[in-house]
Amino acid sequence: MAQKDYYEILGVPRNASADELKSAFRRLARQYHPDVNKSPDAEEKFKEINEAYAVLSDPEKRAAYDRFGHAGVRGAGAPDFNVDFTDFADIFGDLFGFGGFSRSARRARSQPRRGADLQYRLDLTFEEAVFGTEKEIEITRDEICRTCSGSGAEPGTSPVRCSTCNGTGEVRQARQTILGSMVQVITCPTCNGVGETIATPCHTCSGRGLERRTVKKVVSIPAGVDTGTQIRLAGEGQPGINGGPNGNLYIPINVRPHKYFRRKDYDILMDLNINVAQAVLGAEVDVPTVDGMAKLRIPPGTQPGKVLTLRGKGVPHLRSAGRGDQKVVVNVEIPTRLTAEQRRLFEELAKSLGSEVQPQERGFLDWLRDTLAG
Ligand SMILES: [Zn+2]
Ligand SMILES: [Zn+2]
Repeated sequence: MAQKDYYEILGVPRNASADELKSAFRRLARQYHPDVNKSPDAEEKFKEINEAYAVLSDPEKRAAYDRFGHAGVRGAGAPDFNVDFTDFADIFGDLFGFGGFSRSARRARSQPRRGADLQYRLDLTFEEAVFGTEKEIEITRDEICRTCSGSGAEPGTSPVRCSTCNGTGEVRQARQTILGSMVQVITCPTCNGVGETIATPCHTCSGRGLERRTVKKVVSIPAGVDTGTQIRLAGEGQPGINGGPNGNLYIPINVRPHKYFRRKDYDILMDLNINVAQAVLGAEVDVPTVDGMAKLRIPPGTQPGKVLTLRGKGVPHLRSAGRGDQKVVVNVEIPTRLTAEQRRLFEELAKSLGSEVQPQERGFLDWLRDTLAG
């Protein structure tokens, strides 16, 4: 059978440039694409166009064809020639939105995708954060359906080929644009791109293949965590899609406020009220620590705002050995209510210090001030 000349098929001169070839090919492919052109010989014509372009767009094959004719490209060309639809789609797909020929549309439905991450906010007491703990948490997530093992089909039945897309997972859709009607390939809405539908959906998961389940997890909280620390449980999030990996479960920590203590990195801060005599003369007092009560020595002449340190009574370091300190911020309380005896002693002290004071009976203003001070 005599074969038509490739240049003739594309309607270009023998010295046509690569660009001329390409634009001729695009024009003809658009015209004869079987999805567009319903005439009976369109498919045959379309094949010819592809064959001609496949040879002439390749410099080596074109040179062979120019010298030897069809015999020079036998094997690479007709009659056992196969259109490389992926290359073709790169040119054609962007023109028409014929994503159906490109790999991208197929990729979207079959590509493994990582499952979504989940988050569980965990409240801890101050002590739990300092020393670490184990917490049982309950998370609700999708898991592979136990009834159908994830197939979505009722046990004993199988998924069938989707009739909307004929199993391809995609459908063509006309779209109005300023350039006229364009055809676009979209994921099949019936089967969501899977290519199969389930005639008898699993009674547990209604065909999803997944079921919501609440699972318990024991989370090990290391010593030294703080508000803002996030614990990651790899693979404990939503299940992966198409064999992709599971998402992660993230557990942001929130430490509840403590009656006495607050954190500054690995140190524990605490305010301590002492009286004037203790500040002046020095004292030894019992203070709470996260390890229980401890003795704290107040040196004589301690000033308000002085910070005293209890070494090693802070928070264990999260990723290394060692502990922070407990820092005790001293507040000297000035007495506001004095007994007659205390007043006499302070007046004597004032005399001794040589200060001028104005002894005053407690009156209405004192009462008012105390009341307002709470
Ligand atoms: Zn199921
Ligand atoms: Zn479908």
